[in-house]
Amino acid sequence: MIYLDNAATTQPDEEALEYAREFAVNAYYNPSASYRGGFDVSKKLAEWRSALCAEVGGEFELIFTSCGTEADNQAIFGAGRRGNVVTTAGEHAAVERCVTELKNRGVEPRFAPVSRDGSVKTEALLDLVDDRTSLVSVMHVNNETGAINDIAEIARLVKQKNPRCVFHSDGVQAFGKLAGKLSGDIDLYSVSAHKLGGLKGTGGLFKKKSLSLPPYLYGGGQEGGLRSGTENVFGIAAFCHAALARLKARETDLVRVRAVRETLWRSLEGFERISPEEGSPYILTVSAAGLRGEVLVRMLWERGVAAGTGSACSSKHRYSRVLTACGYGKDVLDGVLRLSFSPSTTAEEAAEAARIMNACAREFRERM
Ligand code: PLP
Repeated sequence: MIYLDNAATTQPDEEALEYAREFAVNAYYNPSASYRGGFDVSKKLAEWRSALCAEVGGEFELIFTSCGTEADNQAIFGAGRRGNVVTTAGEHAAVERCVTELKNRGVEPRFAPVSRDGSVKTEALLDLVDDRTSLVSVMHVNNETGAINDIAEIARLVKQKNPRCVFHSDGVQAFGKLAGKLSGDIDLYSVSAHKLGGLKGTGGLFKKKSLSLPPYLYGGGQEGGLRSGTENVFGIAAFCHAALARLKARETDLVRVRAVRETLWRSLEGFERISPEEGSPYILTVSAAGLRGEVLVRMLWERGVAAGTGSACSSKHRYSRVLTACGYGKDVLDGVLRLSFSPSTTAEEAAEAARIMNACAREFRERM
């Protein structure tokens, strides 16, 4: 199988699983236990936490969560508690649904428009920010198009307009791939383990140390009292191991993956490109305009290529909410395919996938 759906989830990193195994098989103690075994595991948790924090900058601490969605929920419901909350029309449902829900909690949701590539229109976003804005949330990499928002610059401009508002970014498709240090204007940053070789069921929320956030889950007071619940030590161990490996190889991986993406794009015939060239190299979204993307996805699977139709989390809706906001017509929206890569995807796989995609699209057209 040529696996090109890495933005939906990645194959877990074998070394990370091997490393984490120790914490499921031998050192399985509860990190809150008061005997030595528990204490040693809690020390490991502290080590992993500080290793990841060192990667984004010294001003941050890290709350381990059960997934990227939970981190987004914690950020938005924790920081968006008055006035209005500004976000973008390009956000993943994990942010969009939270911001929409705020209306029921007496907070006004505001959505800034996106450009054709899925990046936010910064001027329009800034126009929505005022004295009553408590939170601004702008995703780092758009999961449907790969467009990159310059979150450091956007956060700077937002803080210039309202220094008191909190700035959050959903970094789920960026962390371990693009993001290095986070700028000082960013207060909260969500990440997820299964997008970078970790396991489903582990995520994290980087939080500026100086920002105070209410607890999200109440209970035994784990994660500094902000997210109670016995820690998923196995998942966290695998997450940290995988993330640190990805972060270390980030620069060289970026160059290689960009070449893989362009090989695939150059080998395609009759597809329209949606992803911007300067976007994340890990995502190439195209459209076989006039064909049904989900039918193509099934044909591709039968021939050994796993591709996506866009956001796996919103696959029940016929047209993508985000790509509709980008301004695409129904013909293009129908035919959307998202190919997404990992550092181990090869140029040979990309070329072979393109050959199979061309053949499937040709056959599909002939049948119509
Ligand atoms: N945010 C973005 C941009 C995503 O792409 C995803 C998953 O696809 C999520 C949030 C949700 O992450 P998780 O699956 O860890 O809940």
